[in-house]
Amino acid sequence: MSAPPTLPLDPVLLRADFPILHQRVYANPRRGNEGVRLAYLDNGATTQHPRQVVQSMVDCYERTYSNVHRGAHYLSAQSTDAVNAAREKVQRFLNAPRAEEVIFTRGTTESINLVARSWGDAFCQAGDEIVVTEIEHHANLVPWQQLAERKGVKLRHLRLGDDGQLDVPSLPSLLNERTRLVAFTAVSNVLGTITPVAEIVAQAKRVGALTLVDAAQSVPHMRTDVQSWGCDFVAFSGHKMIGPTGVGVLWGRYDLLDSMPPFLGGGGMIDRVWLDRFTPGELPHRFEAGTPAIAEIIGLGAAIDYLNHVGLDAIHAYEQILTAKAHEVLGALPGVTIWGPSLEHKAGIVSFSVADVHPSDVANVLDLAGIAVRAGHHCAMPLHDRLGIPASTRASFYFYNTTEEIERLGEAVVRAQEMFGRKS
Ligand code: PMP
Repeated sequence: MSAPPTLPLDPVLLRADFPILHQRVYANPRRGNEGVRLAYLDNGATTQHPRQVVQSMVDCYERTYSNVHRGAHYLSAQSTDAVNAAREKVQRFLNAPRAEEVIFTRGTTESINLVARSWGDAFCQAGDEIVVTEIEHHANLVPWQQLAERKGVKLRHLRLGDDGQLDVPSLPSLLNERTRLVAFTAVSNVLGTITPVAEIVAQAKRVGALTLVDAAQSVPHMRTDVQSWGCDFVAFSGHKMIGPTGVGVLWGRYDLLDSMPPFLGGGGMIDRVWLDRFTPGELPHRFEAGTPAIAEIIGLGAAIDYLNHVGLDAIHAYEQILTAKAHEVLGALPGVTIWGPSLEHKAGIVSFSVADVHPSDVANVLDLAGIAVRAGHHCAMPLHDRLGIPASTRASFYFYNTTEEIERLGEAVVRAQEMFGRKS
């Protein structure tokens, strides 16, 4: 008998840290119904939390919680130190040159809006151009459409090729001396497409354009190095990387952020205020008006510790195994179409359609089998327009998922076909 393949990580061991994954759903003891085992395959939407992350926030609230204003008292010094430590963890996680380049926001959406409002309003003029792609999440489309409306900026679009990858060879034809920014995702939240970030950045630089990378679906799953990417801004969310909701990051190059006006005004972001004016504070505080999400920032720091402990390379390698398994299982089913590129260009996100079965019916049948997936447009309507479908069903993986869960996914899709598919 051949030895079982060695996995890059031990999902069973890691799952022990995630209490929520060990439940049965739809149990009804009064009717003698034990329910079904949960298989959480909706990690593109949000991820679950290990005990260590939850405990870091409990510790904060039970022992060190206070507002962050160094020097006022003991607890506030503790809180300030904890927030600073989390900022340094993010800096190292991204291989960013300076901790002051890490701005805590509420998430990817707010990070992108910050750039569109602050940088966009200050530095874009009518006739300037911004390039976005056809595969973007609405969070990386609408803020630029709003900027276009405010400032008369023209939006241009990099298309999706039939191979499920961005048509990068056509990018030079979209770039010119009026291009101010290229804003694009590192991993598509629908197709799982891994985009060639460094190559797109290099092209943009040739015409002097800045680059913003929506890294919401990449930072949690693969090693990030903002210096090797060479980009100007990176946005991501804590809740997609086993951290809490309500906290995310905008990373930007120091000199660029330092040239930008504040986004929100209020406490904490100023240097000096008079009755009729103010001067803005230093980075990162200039972009962090108001009381920050203190416990959540600490939780994000704990999430980074946990991910480092598992290892980003191991996470990526293991997710490749899960994605290959999903392609094998779903690809073997007649009537199932898997969207997106071939495996070597794909992260742990698999969207598919089942002939003659509506995606929400697929998701309902899966749900009754304990399998959590998402059905709909996944906040990427233009991408679905391009695919010619109104919606899709999406399974998205993380390091705590197993190949056995993916086998159950396949079995439940067959059940959906039997229940809802056209009987011929
Ligand atoms: N961009 C991408 C690629 C995403 O997947 C998401 C979340 N689905 C977002 C942006 C928005 O993230 P948030 O809702 O955390 O702001």
